[in-house]
Amino acid sequence: MRVCIIGSGLTALTLAKALVNQNIFVYLVSSNKNLKINQSRTIGISKSNFDYFNKNIVNIKKIIWKLKKIEIYSHKNKNEKILNFENSNNQLFSIMQNQQLYEVLNKDLLKNKNFKKIKTKKKLIKPEKYNLIVNTEYNNAITKKYFSKKIEKVYNSFAYTTVINHEKIPNETAVQIFTKIGPIAFLPLSKHKTSVVYSIHASKDVNKEKIIHLIHQHNIKYKIKKIENIENFELKSFNLRSYYNNNILAFGDLLHRIHPLAGQGFNMTIRDINLFINIIKNKIDLGLPLDSAVNYEFEKNSKHKNYIFSNSIDLIQEFFNFERKLNHKILHNSVKILGNNRFINKLFTKVADKGINF
Ligand SMILES: Cc1cc2nc3c(=O)[nH]c(=O)nc-3n(C[C@H](O)[C@H](O)[C@H](O)COP(=O)(O)OP(=O)(O)OC[C@H]3O[C@@H](n4cnc5c(N)ncnc54)[C@H](O)[C@@H]3O)c2cc1C
Repeated sequence: MRVCIIGSGLTALTLAKALVNQNIFVYLVSSNKNLKINQSRTIGISKSNFDYFNKNIVNIKKIIWKLKKIEIYSHKNKNEKILNFENSNNQLFSIMQNQQLYEVLNKDLLKNKNFKKIKTKKKLIKPEKYNLIVNTEYNNAITKKYFSKKIEKVYNSFAYTTVINHEKIPNETAVQIFTKIGPIAFLPLSKHKTSVVYSIHASKDVNKEKIIHLIHQHNIKYKIKKIENIENFELKSFNLRSYYNNNILAFGDLLHRIHPLAGQGFNMTIRDINLFINIIKNKIDLGLPLDSAVNYEFEKNSKHKNYIFSNSIDLIQEFFNFERKLNHKILHNSVKILGNNRFINKLFTKVADKGINF
């Protein structure tokens, strides 16, 4: 069985590793020869995805930092805490640097006998040579031909990311503050390091000095020693209208991209990988070929859930955007009441952990 994966980002490598673990031969093709993974980017993955990753993909225990608590504040009322998520079994989310995850996956794949990186121009990829082709790139000929139709939303916002070095503290609680210009998240990476993601509305004139000033202004617990390089990205969300064409499937952020405020983009992809691998395992167990039927089943079982989940993240974004513009505390008071309700708090925590799959 041969699967061709187009791309060299985190989705491409994670999926490649999940497939070689099933004894499927993976050819990885990328038009991006020298991919530099951004040093300031971090990924938070939920407890159930962390467990899935360790059991079925690769062991990432050494590169993660465990979070026990997430606190949500509103800047409106002098940084008043409006929500609080905790996990009784001690691990709510795990944070790691994108770069480190990339290195673990890449190192492991390069020594796997079922894996090969090939240098082929996209137009030379022949779909009939492979059982399945999985595309994760945004700008290649296959994407333009089959995966350009989407439901898209531009947020008129930019995400600014960096890592702060600070004095040693236990650092097991992530903090997100909904400020007047957008949400800022402090995501612990170790006792000395914390990553910062600030999503700012209409931010064309925000320079790096201003971001540094804002980080100091909203920092509520760190004695900052140094702020590392600041990177920025335009924020969009979209869902592809069609997930596949015959045996070619779109995957990862090419399939669905969401606002980073809930740290769920890659979590959605891990859930997709879990489903995709299960479909493949079932076909193999039944002696059936791997062909477009896999893609059909994948789309049928994931598209509606991904669409609902992306829209719920968008709803949260819109809610706080609306609250930001309103000069009234009624909305954030109602979130506080909802969040203090044990059932609703548990439900939020479950959805963040498992998506809408429980
Ligand atoms: C600020 C921010 C914070 C986030 N935090 C979280 C989080 O906490 N938890 C979570 O689950 N998700 C989070 N996400 C989403 C997560 O980062 C993405 O879902 C994930 O990185 C997508 O990986 P990918 O391989 O599909 O896409 P990409 O990494 O974008 O790669 C797609 C393709 O594009 C190519 N490519 C990538 N970069 C370049 C480049 N510079 N030049 C040329 N080609 C390139 C790659 O080779 C690859 O083939 C966050 C996103 C943002 C923007």
